[in-house]
Amino acid sequence: MGYLLGIDIGTSGTKTLLVTTKGRIAASVTVEYPAYAPKPAWSEQVPEDWWQAAIASIRAVLKKAKVKGANVTGLGLSGQMHGSVFLDKAGKVLRRAILWNDQRTGAECEAITRAAGGRKQLIRMVANPALTGFTAPKILWVRTHEPRVYAKTAKILLPKDYVRYRLTGEFATEVSDASGTLLLDVRRRRWSTKLLGLLKIDRDLLPEVYESQEVSGCLTAEAAKVTGLAAGTPVVGGGGDQAAGAVGGGIVRRGAISATLGTSGVVFAHADTVETDPEGRVHTFCHAVEGKWHVMGVVLAAGGSLQWFRNTLCQDLVRKAKREKVDPYELITAAAAKVAPGSDGLYFLPYLTGERTPHADPSARAAWVGLSNMHTRAHMARAVMEGATYAMRDCLEIITRMGVPVREIRVAGGGARSPFWRSLQADIYRKPVWTVSSEEGPAYGVALLAGVGTGVWKSVPEACDATIRTLQATKPTRKHVKRYDALYPEYGQLYRSLKADFARIAALA
Ligand code: ADP
Repeated sequence: MGYLLGIDIGTSGTKTLLVTTKGRIAASVTVEYPAYAPKPAWSEQVPEDWWQAAIASIRAVLKKAKVKGANVTGLGLSGQMHGSVFLDKAGKVLRRAILWNDQRTGAECEAITRAAGGRKQLIRMVANPALTGFTAPKILWVRTHEPRVYAKTAKILLPKDYVRYRLTGEFATEVSDASGTLLLDVRRRRWSTKLLGLLKIDRDLLPEVYESQEVSGCLTAEAAKVTGLAAGTPVVGGGGDQAAGAVGGGIVRRGAISATLGTSGVVFAHADTVETDPEGRVHTFCHAVEGKWHVMGVVLAAGGSLQWFRNTLCQDLVRKAKREKVDPYELITAAAAKVAPGSDGLYFLPYLTGERTPHADPSARAAWVGLSNMHTRAHMARAVMEGATYAMRDCLEIITRMGVPVREIRVAGGGARSPFWRSLQADIYRKPVWTVSSEEGPAYGVALLAGVGTGVWKSVPEACDATIRTLQATKPTRKHVKRYDALYPEYGQLYRSLKADFARIAALA
């Protein structure tokens, strides 16, 4: 039997999945590594750690499933987006990689926006505004602050593309991850020579760009020896973790949307055409589906708000849950479920760490508004869950207004484990929400891309149809939909009322 490998170079570890050519998971192994914060708000990793984790996890899945390396017919790579690996002309790593969550580049973002002729112009060129996490500002930062490193730099790669280089000897990337560098002409799916020129970044520093399912190179004899795979095994483009995760969840057709409630919340929509938000509140990136795009909104503390609530205000429930051998979230959500929709007039703004979509406001802060002496902790819990879900609806509203249709919403992440939070989502989104059979995310998505690139399936949608099923629908309750439709505009108004206060509080702090 033939097998496909999907490797996801995450921030906490590398996850490798061995998948049969029928889409069944034969083995899964994760190998962890550290991240470094040499200064506050900096975040770096050692690229060699990714490579060693890739080798170890490939060997481990083969061993676990008792599969010979020669039976693996294709490999796909996914990983944390936006990171930057600086290589010299011998292919040696020059400094630790700067990661997606590193915040050192505020000044460089302003410089890029200025060089482009303003935010609107920049969005016109590369479909997105400059954000500190993106790759381009990191390149400028190294150029300014570490000129000796920059002078020696011959190639700049994204995290998964560094692992590709070690596997194949090729300098290559693919459209979905390249979109997050801020240097890709997202519309034309190739490097933006215009922005590269304005920023004076040499095109030769960047790798070749492929479509996600295209074969970008083959395993070298040396890589074959250390991984136990066969020399010549094709490696496809793969995808950034969000696009690859969407393939793994079947978000590959017009109308398909995923709402993922993890620590952060992500609303991801497939788009057949390039649609941008002129205000840049959602990302517009190339999808890992050939010739398609996606738009994405990010709520910074979605599930994270409930996690904070659990940790700071529910320690007694955490202890009770331990005694009763249940998940503390089950006790919290059971109490919240007994409160009426709308939490009897109590609202929660979930901006614990500022907000990305829709406000792009690092100074925004969380708040309960409307507390009265009749409210209990259960009300506060329900308000937290409602507030986080309204924030997800904010993303959906922007996406809908951009003309991207929302037909089928698939839910994922820790929040989707709770039947109560699923029905809350259906009520607030005003649509049924579906759970899906595949929960393996980006690693599974790129294993499917490897299958498409090596002829197992004809296209990405065909691969998803053959392997992923929707499981359970949760329908909205009409009465609740009406109630939430009346309350949701008030939630939006609260941020507008408090915006200036948040800024003043931040200035004082
Ligand atoms: P991460 O984004 O860190 O990978 P998860 O996708 O597992 O994490 O999501 C974690 C979040 O999911 C928690 O912060 C919590 O808000 C939510 N969650 C997890 N389990 C439950 C549950 N049983 N009921 C309600 N919410 C849950």
